[in-house]
Amino acid sequence: MLKKKKAILFYCAILFFVVLMFIHLNTFAAIDYASNESYYQKLCNKRSSYNANKSVCVGYENYLKNKKSASKKAQSDLKTQIEETKGDIADLTGLIQKQTKLIEDKKADIAETESEIKQTEEDIKNLEDDILQRLALMQQMDSENFVIDFLMSSQSIDDFLTKVDGVNAINDANKEVINDLDYAKKQLKTKKTELVKSKKDLESAQAEQKTMLKEYYSKESELFQKLQAEQKNNAVYNKMLNNINVNDITGQASSKGFILPVKHAVVTAAAWYYPIDFGGGWHPGVDLANNWGTPIYASANGVILATGSGYGYGNYMVAAYQVGGSTYTMLYGHLQKYANYGSTIKQGQVIAYMGSTGNSTGPHVHVEVIKHTNQSLKTVINQFKSTGDFYFGLGYTGIGSCSSVCRLKPHVFFGLSYGQSF
Ligand SMILES: [Zn+2]
Repeated sequence: MLKKKKAILFYCAILFFVVLMFIHLNTFAAIDYASNESYYQKLCNKRSSYNANKSVCVGYENYLKNKKSASKKAQSDLKTQIEETKGDIADLTGLIQKQTKLIEDKKADIAETESEIKQTEEDIKNLEDDILQRLALMQQMDSENFVIDFLMSSQSIDDFLTKVDGVNAINDANKEVINDLDYAKKQLKTKKTELVKSKKDLESAQAEQKTMLKEYYSKESELFQKLQAEQKNNAVYNKMLNNINVNDITGQASSKGFILPVKHAVVTAAAWYYPIDFGGGWHPGVDLANNWGTPIYASANGVILATGSGYGYGNYMVAAYQVGGSTYTMLYGHLQKYANYGSTIKQGQVIAYMGSTGNSTGPHVHVEVIKHTNQSLKTVINQFKSTGDFYFGLGYTGIGSCSSVCRLKPHVFFGLSYGQSF
């Protein structure tokens, strides 16, 4: 009995969790990003709220990516359609040109036929006149005028020709000529009718094609407009995505100020020159000495831009920080270990450990500071990505101008002086 109760409780619990999971899954499935874009854009734009709403923001990012790829797909479809329409237009234009030529030919044929008809009519008329004159002559000679009266009573040429056939007074040769001419005239008239009809057919076909061509042109321009709109959409999605991505990497709150890279050290060298004990010469950094493995802290919120080994620095690392509307890059040399490049870092976070790699006589960290006035962290990162130059054009010895990019005296920047212990 007890066992049965336990089993029922167990199944109830499972059912409860299944229902909970279902509700939970549905909550995600039901997010309507489309009608609240600006809300989610705002929500996911800042790293802090992005992280606090990670699953929603990841969903929103995917939503934007989907929209972007749908827009890209639509663009390529539209481009294909435009190409097809252009092909149709070219075909149709070719056809219209051919038909225009045919119509011109028909017109010429019709004109020729018309002049042939006219000529034939004239010939018939001349022959009729000729016959009439002969008949008049015959009448004068034999005073029997019934034939001429009979013929002159004709209502039309056709009527006349029918009568001529039955009149013996007109010789067979003339009859034959008249009949031939009459036949030729009829043929020509038929030919003319046919030509006029086929000309009309061609013209109406051409008119139809011109209408079609007009439609194709308007379809093409409509497709172009759609393409432009899609391209615009795509640019908008890109911008929205970039805002989120940029903030994902660099959107840390800008630090209020800087902290020192190490908690305790002796300032063994300052800028711009090495102390005379070290032989003098150019020195763009501040040297902070302590034991091997002394932790080095991020001076502000930012990102690790580069790490590597060489140039006399031994193991080096370059970090970029955003403080008070400016971006600062700092180079740390002679390290034992360092964090991965590309990581975002928070002020006070351990980012490296002191060593004595490269040109070094004992464990210390060499720190250089470059100020990027009026440049955002994103700009500086992109510039570094495209040039790979962590001196940002200043070289090893350049100081530059702080109206754009300049080297700062690191000991002054950190409020330290040569020989100081802290
Ligand atoms: Zn140094």
